[in-house]
Amino acid sequence: GTEIKLEHVTKDYGLATPAVDGVSLTIRPGEFMTFLGPSGSGKTTTLNLIAGFETLTAGSISLNGADVGDVPPHRRNLGMLFQNYALFPHMTVAQNVAYPLRERKVAKAEIARKVAEVLDLVQLTGRDGDHPSKLSGGQQQRVALARAIVFEPKALLLDEPLGALDRNLRAALQTEIRRIHREVGSTFVFVTHDQEEAMNLSDRIALFNNGRIEQIGTPQQLYAEP
Ligand code: ADP
Ligand code: ADP
Repeated sequence: GTEIKLEHVTKDYGLATPAVDGVSLTIRPGEFMTFLGPSGSGKTTTLNLIAGFETLTAGSISLNGADVGDVPPHRRNLGMLFQNYALFPHMTVAQNVAYPLRERKVAKAEIARKVAEVLDLVQLTGRDGDHPSKLSGGQQQRVALARAIVFEPKALLLDEPLGALDRNLRAALQTEIRRIHREVGSTFVFVTHDQEEAMNLSDRIALFNNGRIEQIGTPQQLYAEP
């Protein structure tokens, strides 16, 4: 697992208040960390700063102790999963999942082995040859999850990945995401505005408000009855 350390991280778009306002946070190797808070509280911007999609106004971010301020997104080796899974429609399931490995020039036999392994992990064995349009929304999101972890990223960043799914499917995929987190042992950073989802999934929750982390702790520490 990878340690993700944020020190006094600020992103200012020139609005009345910075989108992210001096956030310091250490996400432990292998931890399932959730950013929870209302819309506009800075969760996605913080995730995008970790990913390298946005540049810092101030502060620093390091992965396993190495500062990534000047490292472009594709060199950070982080897996991403968003609400709209954005599979390549003209590629099969297997080709979609293989894509990050082909980009990294991994040998063919190794690609075949890894794709089979990760499709098994997301319980889509046998669907390798199908195109995304033949799959349900939940299955498509599982393909996107497989594609996001197949290259063994340093960490997986998930931005409301279940937001577009109906209630039953959300619950089922929450269970799968937990299981996959346990099996791969990687650091997960998960953004949601859904408290129940955060409580179901997280080792720790960082509560965002107005670009700051107001509280941080285990679901029990934050929500246990007094
Ligand atoms: P959340 O993910 O918690 O909904 P965001 O990080 O998306 O919050 O947004 C935090 C604040 O920053 C909001 O006020 C939002 O409008 C603003 N913001 C986010 N991205 C940009 C951008 N690219 N340009 C200007 N303002 C932005
Ligand atoms: P989310 O659903 O994750 O909160 P949004 O729908 O708020 O995301 O924003 C979608 C995209 O638009 C993001 O890339 C975000 O950075 C950008 N964005 C959000 N708010 C603003 C803004 N006020 N001005 C410009 N871009 C913004």
